[in-house]
Amino acid sequence: MDKVAVIGAGISGLALANKLKKHFEVVVFEKSRGYGGRVATRRAGEFIFDHGAQFFKVKTDEFREYIKPMIDQGVVDIWKARFVEIDNGKITNNRIWGDDPSNYIGTPSMNSIGKYMADGLDVRLSDKVANVAQGTKWELYDEAGANIGEFDWVVSAIPPKQVIEMIPDVINLYSKISSYEMLACYSLMLGYEEKMDIGFDAALIKGADISWLSVNSSKLPGANNTTFLIHSTNKWASQNIDRDRDWVKGYLCNELSNLVPIKTESANYIGLQGWRYANIKKQNNIEFFLDKDNKFGLCGDWFVQGRIEAAYLSGSHLGDQMLIS
Ligand SMILES: Cc1cc2nc3c(=O)[nH]c(=O)nc-3n(C[C@H](O)[C@H](O)[C@H](O)COP(=O)(O)OP(=O)(O)OC[C@H]3O[C@@H](n4cnc5c(N)ncnc54)[C@H](O)[C@@H]3O)c2cc1C
Repeated sequence: MDKVAVIGAGISGLALANKLKKHFEVVVFEKSRGYGGRVATRRAGEFIFDHGAQFFKVKTDEFREYIKPMIDQGVVDIWKARFVEIDNGKITNNRIWGDDPSNYIGTPSMNSIGKYMADGLDVRLSDKVANVAQGTKWELYDEAGANIGEFDWVVSAIPPKQVIEMIPDVINLYSKISSYEMLACYSLMLGYEEKMDIGFDAALIKGADISWLSVNSSKLPGANNTTFLIHSTNKWASQNIDRDRDWVKGYLCNELSNLVPIKTESANYIGLQGWRYANIKKQNNIEFFLDKDNKFGLCGDWFVQGRIEAAYLSGSHLGDQMLIS
């Protein structure tokens, strides 16, 4: 059996690993402590925040089929949020999200999806791949320069700028990878011990440096506290990604107070996550990359669109091609 190293346990890497697991010996390397990549959840004491992807849509039958067992097992549910659109401080649209089309969430939190997908796989957490070198086989090295394995195939399922830092330029897509521009995003997290109702659960915001506000605790029916999750616009975050984090918190809290009657100064918890590679606009390009001669592949949302379904399809379709190679 050929050995495959998958770098990255986000949705694309896990989708790929699941496709290959019966036919290859698959090892997934993940630099962080959890599964799911940008489909992430932060716990701060009693407060829970989905600080990456907040929910997802399903557009293809293939992905609908894939998530069906997750729905049946209670890993994924529909978010029936009270949704509004806010344009320059005014609510312009107001509706309840329903069954069709559905907006799905992981239950009890988004990271349940990565945990489900990683079940039964050999995933090495907290194991960052720093370098990939081509000898008679692919050799992987960690940050200390130690060899962490030799593999017949390597697939990188991480954002493009991070791929370039790691792979040798024998790969024939190498020069094109740098043209994929990913946008940044900040996630501001506010936790309050008491229950609050601001009249809606999720808001798409225009005309501000904030693009999204959700009452994250509305996803948890039994929650006895309130958590707010705020995403900055990609444009503002990309301009300010290297700023001091306390300054960013202060700026976004102020921006939020101008939009909704939330007293940010009385929050019991304030957290911030800066995503340098958060999102990419829709691409009209290949879904993945496979160099069969070098036994090297690339997948990830960045080939398609910054969406969970896109990441899944990129990894899954690369797996299909590897199985017929
Ligand atoms: C703030 C934010 C909001 C979003 N909102 C939505 C939304 O509402 N709906 C939606 O559908 N999508 C949303 N997305 C996009 C969605 O999260 C992504 O499209 C999808 O999760 C990408 O999956 P991926 O597998 O391609 O990449 P990633 O999730 O980035 O996975 C890559 C993995 O590789 C790991 N890694 C990186 N480098 C190394 C290394 N050297 N060694 C080992 N491991 C490494 C990372 O830790 C990560 O786990 C959002 C994203 C962000 C950041």
